[in-house]
Amino acid sequence: MNERDSEAVASLLRARGYALVEDEAQADIVLLNTCSVRDLAEQKAMGKAAHLNKRKRRNPRFIVGILGCMAQNRGADLLDRLPDLDLVVGTQKFHRVPDHLDNLVASLRGQGPRPATLIDLDAEAGSQNEIRGHVSTESEPQVSAYISIMQGCNMHCTFCIVPKTRGEERSRPLDDIVREAEELVAHGTREITLLGQIVTSYGRREFPMVGGKTPFVQLLERLHALPQLHRLRFTSPHPGGFKADLIAAHRDLPKLGEYAHLPLQSGSDRILRAMNRPYTRDSYRRLIDQLRAAQPKIWLSTDIIVGFPGETDEDFAATRDLFREIGFEMAYLFKYSTRTGTPAAEMPDQVPAEIAEARHRELMAILEKRSLARHQELVGTTEEVLAQEPARRPAGRLMGRTRGYRKVFFDAPAHRLGELLPLRITRATVAALEGELV
Ligand code: SF4
Repeated sequence: MNERDSEAVASLLRARGYALVEDEAQADIVLLNTCSVRDLAEQKAMGKAAHLNKRKRRNPRFIVGILGCMAQNRGADLLDRLPDLDLVVGTQKFHRVPDHLDNLVASLRGQGPRPATLIDLDAEAGSQNEIRGHVSTESEPQVSAYISIMQGCNMHCTFCIVPKTRGEERSRPLDDIVREAEELVAHGTREITLLGQIVTSYGRREFPMVGGKTPFVQLLERLHALPQLHRLRFTSPHPGGFKADLIAAHRDLPKLGEYAHLPLQSGSDRILRAMNRPYTRDSYRRLIDQLRAAQPKIWLSTDIIVGFPGETDEDFAATRDLFREIGFEMAYLFKYSTRTGTPAAEMPDQVPAEIAEARHRELMAILEKRSLARHQELVGTTEEVLAQEPARRPAGRLMGRTRGYRKVFFDAPAHRLGELLPLRITRATVAALEGELV
C-alpha cells in the first residue's frame, strides 16, 4: 500500500515539474512515506528522519517531509524529536503534497524567516479517489502494477493501528478502477494487484449486490475480462469476506491463478475473540476446505501473530496444530508488536519477548519444511510463469511467478518480460524455484 501511495505522489510531483533522482544525496527534497503497523517500522523511519534533519541543519533550503501512517499516528508530536521537519502529511492528504511543496519552495526562495512546519492530517471526503497516477504510465511499462481500490478499515481488530491511521472504509467507484486498469494494460501492464486494507469489503456500503455477487467480485469479473491482462491479484482480504461468490471466483476466473491469502492470525478461538476476529478455527478450516474444493491446486498463504497478550502454551499449540494441519506454502509470521492506542496494548498478560521468539521459530520451522516439500514436488514439471522483472542477481536472469504465486528465476532475454512462459522447474529451495524455458 505504501509503495502504491508513494508511486501516486511521485506521479503527481512529476506532473508538477519535479523530477525523481536516482540517488538520495542529489535530492533537494526527501519525503519519507512511513508505516506504523509495527513498532520497528516507526523506529526505522524515525532514525532515517533524524539523519535527514541533520542534513537540513547544514542546508536550510533542503526540504524534509514525513508522509503516511506515522505522520497520521503521531502528528505534531513528531516535532518533539524532529523539530526541523518541513512537512507532515497524513494518509488522506497525499494528493495535497504538490501544492504544499510549491508553497514551501516559494517561501524558501524568498528571504523571509523559515516557514512553520506544515501539518496536514484531517480526514478528507473522496481522498480514496486520488490515488490513481502511475509513474509507469509516464515512463517504462511495469509488468506488474498496483491499483488502490479502497482505503480504511472498520473491523477494529484489537492489535491493529490501521483503523486509526487509515480511517473509515471508503471505496472508489468501480468504473474508475476499470478505467485505470485499462490505461495500465494499454501501457504494457500484465498483472494487476488490487490493494486495500480490507479489499473483500470493497464497496459493501456504497454499491449494491448484483446477481448475488458482492461489489468486490463484480470488480474482479470486470477486470478479468480485460483481454491483455494475464493475472489478477488482491491484498489484503479478510476471511469474513470469503463468501460463496468469492470462493466460486477462484474456480471460475483463471487469471486469479491458483493462489489465495487468508490471514488467520491465531488458531485459538479464545485469542481470536480477544483479537476481535469474527471467525473460529472451525469456520476458518471450513473456508479452506471450500477453497480447496473449488480450486484443488490452490497454494495458500496466511498471516499469524504469536505472543498476543494472554496467549498461553495451549493457545499457541492450537495455532501451531492448525497451521501444520492446513499446510500453508507461505506465511507472514509476526511477533506481536504493541501499538499504543490499540485495545491490545492495554491488555494484561503481555507475553515475554523470548516466549514469542520461541513460538515464532517453531512456526517458521513448520513453514520452511512445508514450502520446501511443495516446491520440490514441482521439480521436473512445467509451470506457466509470468515474466515480471529482471532478477537482481545475477544480471541477465529474469524473475517470474507461477500461477501459485511462487517466485521462479530463469535465463531469458529481457524482451520476454510481460509474457506467460512455459518453464520447466529445475531446482527448488525454501524461498524460490529455478527453471528453464521449454
Ligand atoms: S481487518 Fe486488517 S486492517 Fe482491519 S483492523 Fe483488522 S488487521 Fe487491521
